[in-house]
Amino acid sequence: MAAARPTLDDLFAELRARGLRATTARRAVLAELLVAGDTHLTADELARRIHADHPAVHLSTVYRTLDALAEAGLIAVARFADQPVTYHLAGDVHHHAVCTACGATINLPAEVLAPVQRRLARDHGFVADPRHLTITGTCAACVDGAARPSPSER
Ligand SMILES: [Zn+2]
Ligand SMILES: [Zn+2]
Repeated sequence: MAAARPTLDDLFAELRARGLRATTARRAVLAELLVAGDTHLTADELARRIHADHPAVHLSTVYRTLDALAEAGLIAVARFADQPVTYHLAGDVHHHAVCTACGATINLPAEVLAPVQRRLARDHGFVADPRHLTITGTCAACVDGAARPSPSER
């Protein structure tokens, strides 16, 4: 079963529990990431959204805030191939299937790797902690596109 999404109050409580003050920038970053849900935002995208509501919070502050929150373990950093680094809430453990042809991404729940983790533990005593695994391949649209005859052949 997937864990329930935290509320903003939960996130602020976690911030304080880790000894970080709930500054405007930190609250704004956590609020935006909560709203973003499954969408992964780059620092620039986050800064643009936050700046709209909090004109005093500048890009450099957002970058520093992201570093501090990542270091505190509240947010996770993810990168797809040559794309810019993106951020999401650390409690949201999930994986991705990424199409190498068009870049489409599918979010996969953490549970899909449970059988792999069990097997590693059973056969090797290995405690796997997979974070944000990316499985590359070809999405349905691209498979169809490759299989479909070109217009001249129809
Ligand atoms: Zn992700
Ligand atoms: Zn594709």
